[in-house]
Amino acid sequence: MIVDSSILSRHDQSFDLIVIGGGAAGLTLAQAVGSKGLRVLLLEAGGPRETREGRAALSGELAAPAVHPALDLYRTRALGGTSRLWGGRCIPLDRIDFDRRDWIGKSGWPVGYEEIAAYYPAAMTAAEAGANEFDPASVFAGSRSELAAGLDGDLVRTTIERFSRPTDFWRRFGIELASSNRIYVLPHTRLLSIRLTSNGSVVEKLVVADRAGRQFLVRASTYVLALGGLEATRVLLASRDVKPGGIGNDFDQLGRYYMSHFCANGGTLDMSSSPAALAFDYQRDSEGIYLRRRLWLTETSQRLFRLPNITFRTHLPDPGDPAHRNAILSAMFLSKSFVQKEYAAKFSEGMITRVDYLRHARNIAVQPAALSRFAAMWLRRRILTRRKLPSVVLASADHRYPLEFHAEQLPNSDSRVTLSERRDADDVPRLKVDWRVLDADVEGIVRAHRLLKREVERTGIGHLSVDEAALSSCIRDRSIVGGHHIGTTRMSVTPQHGVVDPDCRVHGVDNLFIASSSVMPTSGQANPTLTILALALRLADHLHMRSRSTAAGSVDTSRRAAALR
Ligand SMILES: Cc1cc2nc3c(=O)[nH]c(=O)nc-3n(C[C@H](O)[C@H](O)[C@H](O)COP(=O)(O)OP(=O)(O)OC[C@H]3O[C@@H](n4cnc5c(N)ncnc54)[C@H](O)[C@@H]3O)c2cc1C
Repeated sequence: MIVDSSILSRHDQSFDLIVIGGGAAGLTLAQAVGSKGLRVLLLEAGGPRETREGRAALSGELAAPAVHPALDLYRTRALGGTSRLWGGRCIPLDRIDFDRRDWIGKSGWPVGYEEIAAYYPAAMTAAEAGANEFDPASVFAGSRSELAAGLDGDLVRTTIERFSRPTDFWRRFGIELASSNRIYVLPHTRLLSIRLTSNGSVVEKLVVADRAGRQFLVRASTYVLALGGLEATRVLLASRDVKPGGIGNDFDQLGRYYMSHFCANGGTLDMSSSPAALAFDYQRDSEGIYLRRRLWLTETSQRLFRLPNITFRTHLPDPGDPAHRNAILSAMFLSKSFVQKEYAAKFSEGMITRVDYLRHARNIAVQPAALSRFAAMWLRRRILTRRKLPSVVLASADHRYPLEFHAEQLPNSDSRVTLSERRDADDVPRLKVDWRVLDADVEGIVRAHRLLKREVERTGIGHLSVDEAALSSCIRDRSIVGGHHIGTTRMSVTPQHGVVDPDCRVHGVDNLFIASSSVMPTSGQANPTLTILALALRLADHLHMRSRSTAAGSVDTSRRAAALR
């Protein structure tokens, strides 16, 4: 049920679990544990809509503002969290992402691929993204599976990405949670700090503030931070009454290893010699789920050439450059509302002149029929439907396609978030973000392009042109994905190497857990949300088992003991 802050002063209420954060992770976890019979209080800072104050609370300092987006740009404080903004691309991590790779420092997860992969089917259901099937040979059985006919082999393979509606998780689970008598959803309630017992081993209570700024204490036997990667880190750093460096930070690991993904157009694929060879468009499966093919440098490639994990997909020419002579791209550019900020930021807006604007207008004027056909399609498949066409995809008149890469960022302890001197309206310190790119990041992505170019040309399917100098500076300066916040509470066997244990429990604190991409020790090539959901569902199972064994009077420590060995 949805409750107000009066519930916090009632002594007849007790909860097994407090989940803080009503985004994809928190709502999925609350729904899962609630359905197993636990009594849950879910605290969410925002309400049904984002407010100016909520947004203001998220801003912070940046060490390199030209490179990293403003902190209030790709996050939101409202029920549903960032799932109100996301694009819905659902991709699992690959098996190799969990391995220790000797060419990537600090790689390797303390849990195996199977352990997380077991939760991907349920995560796909939560995200309304269809079957947990990503192999084009099965998905497109009986028809063509390759993105570029003749290219797939040991080194390069076509894989599939699937798309959520995109699901707003409050719309997905809100009605069910509102009618539940075990799950209490308390909006407009901000977590300010976590209070530990004097020996620091247990969370005793939370300090929270309601809409009017009144502060309350709340208690339960177990707590889950589902605040998004950056805010979970901020609250832990700011909770310093017992632990001067913050909670989970005895070994100075909290806030380090901050990763995103690198994504930009890295080259141009010229298919003019075999235009029919390319299957670049979206398709829908029997459930109506949108799918798209992309290229992946296989495990064999990664091991042989010591590369990061990386994928490529055909993309649009820069809509800001009127030389494309395409009415749809010009219209997209001129009416930015068609384009999400994340992608708009990458367009060449800064260099656009008045003459360019006139050329865009001319592009539109000479192709009115193409534009109106597109507008009708967009209205039907994007605006007036809940399952939305994920993005604009256009056939290229000259069969040349920009190739967008989406690459893993390497773990780097100097890439970090700390607390700023500045504070928000609740007097909580803001974040200071110092996101850093290693030479090895740049070099690995450039070498991956070289390998793909070699394969494209060896197989004779076309040509790939890459300006390596331009690519290198783009990776450093313009390729961060703004909405992926990974690694700052990384999972490790011991507290010397991370913040949470393999059960996502904060090291040294018996009853505090994290559900977020911040626990991921490596980012892989995949967008994070499907893995966030898998981790949340796995944590739900763990908390359910833990509550049963606590109720039976015998806390099951076997998994933890195994993890610490
Ligand atoms: C434009 C855009 C496109 C994206 N596209 C994709 C995509 O295609 N595929 C993909 O996998 N990912 C994508 N992402 C990333 C995806 O949105 C996030 O990975 C995901 O939504 C994170 O979910 P979360 O629940 O961990 O965190 P959040 O969604 O950030 O939820 C955290 C919640 O906690 C609340 N909160 C924060 N602080 C407090 C506090 N102190 N007290 C109480 N509550 C608090 C917030 O209000 C919020 O509701 C995209 C992101 C953006 C911005």
